[in-house]
Amino acid sequence: MIQNLTGKISDSAYDRIANTFPSFDSCPTCDDNGHYILEGKTYHCDCQVQKLLQRSYFAANIPREYHDICIEHFFGEDRETVVPQVQRYLEQFDNQYHYGLGLTFAGPYGTGKSFLVASILKEIVKKGRTAYFITFDEFVQHFGATWNDEKSKKLMQDTLKRVEVLGLDELKTDERNTNGFLSDALQAIIRHRTSNLLPTLITTNLTPDKQEQHFTKAHSLLSAKNTMVLTSGKDVRPRVKAIAEQLIECNERRPIC
Ligand SMILES: [Zn+2]
Repeated sequence: MIQNLTGKISDSAYDRIANTFPSFDSCPTCDDNGHYILEGKTYHCDCQVQKLLQRSYFAANIPREYHDICIEHFFGEDRETVVPQVQRYLEQFDNQYHYGLGLTFAGPYGTGKSFLVASILKEIVKKGRTAYFITFDEFVQHFGATWNDEKSKKLMQDTLKRVEVLGLDELKTDERNTNGFLSDALQAIIRHRTSNLLPTLITTNLTPDKQEQHFTKAHSLLSAKNTMVLTSGKDVRPRVKAIAEQLIECNERRPIC
């Protein structure tokens, strides 16, 4: 599963991660103890693999909260309909990628959309392909700074435009879009990616109608490439906290997966 991972990480990514996570070099699962407990059983910890996976996920900017949960852990109310669509996309990934096809997850706050995109990107990283996760807000900030900031320019040119699969999280609109700024930003990246057959995965609270209304051109480009997956149900976040509390109570750890 992990044989394709190179574990390589650029200097800038290393600095970014090491600044945020001072204990970055120790094993994220067992804190270098060599074993961890899960569901009452003690497991030998393959620290090297755990570190390698985590490095690769951080390099892809996948948030820490998604490192130890995978698609099998998805417990949104619409699990029965959403999980099979994600699994099918992953099973067919090489062909989906060949034709530049992606997924757009649309639904209310807390229905697990970001988690689904992070899970897909992790599987893609494990296949040895390049992936990058970024929030729409963060993307817009970099887009607005490309003219005078070398780092933003580099991120836009070298990463967001070129990465094999991009996850764009929380597409939304606000007053900055009055003169079409957000719409232009999205169109710039999406036009480049769709015309080069590079898949983009998107999450949004906007309904398909609102996506079309506020991001007309990008929506049109995306509708030719992305399948819309609608999510629904109650906010899953309280349950995420309850599970963490239960794991703490039993002194258990979930490995990076
Ligand atoms: Zn370990």
